[in-house]
Amino acid sequence: MGDYVLEHAAEFMAPPAKELNESVAVVGAGPAGLSAAFYLRKEGYSVTVFDQMPEAGGMLTYGIPPYRLPREVLRKQIRAFDEMGIQFKTGVAIGRAARRSEICGRSSSTSSWRPGRGGSRACRSRNRSCSARP
Ligand SMILES: Cc1cc2nc3c(=O)[nH]c(=O)nc-3n(C[C@H](O)[C@H](O)[C@H](O)COP(=O)(O)OP(=O)(O)OC[C@H]3O[C@@H](n4cnc5c(N)ncnc54)[C@H](O)[C@@H]3O)c2cc1C
Repeated sequence: MGDYVLEHAAEFMAPPAKELNESVAVVGAGPAGLSAAFYLRKEGYSVTVFDQMPEAGGMLTYGIPPYRLPREVLRKQIRAFDEMGIQFKTGVAIGRAARRSEICGRSSSTSSWRPGRGGSRACRSRNRSCSARP
């Protein structure tokens, strides 16, 4: 099933029919961040995913051994998201290399989203007035 979806990525992970005039920053390119990015992009948001590691995927890339999850499968999935229009900025540690306020300042974003301990956490803030807390 997963292989079929990846082989038909353009059909299952197509860019949205309608673009919204809002952007969202997602912190963390693990499964939680990638899922959020996918559904937000599907709705038409312009989405940028930030991750401190050099490659997207989170634990799937850095924790699960390739004999359990071949890297090429994962990379195909990330490429499909990329072609959907999701932007990836890797090697950026939010709170260290960049602060949340910088993300908000750089985009027309009204929201940033990051997976939190024990679940997902959404932080909504009014246009360009995000707090400086990472
Ligand atoms: C050995 C192993 C085997 C597993 N096997 C399975 C399995 O078979 N099936 C299964 O369903 N699950 C499995 N899991 C669990 C699965 O990997 C996790 O549930 C899943 O990765 C959690 O996703 P996540 O997005 O919440 O977190 P993560 O995958 O940890 O992703 C979080 C991402 O956020 C980034 N990040 C964090 N803080 C910042 C910051 N300040 N700035 C920028 N980036 C940041 C990190 O670099 C990371 O890439 C396994 C886990 C391990 C370790």
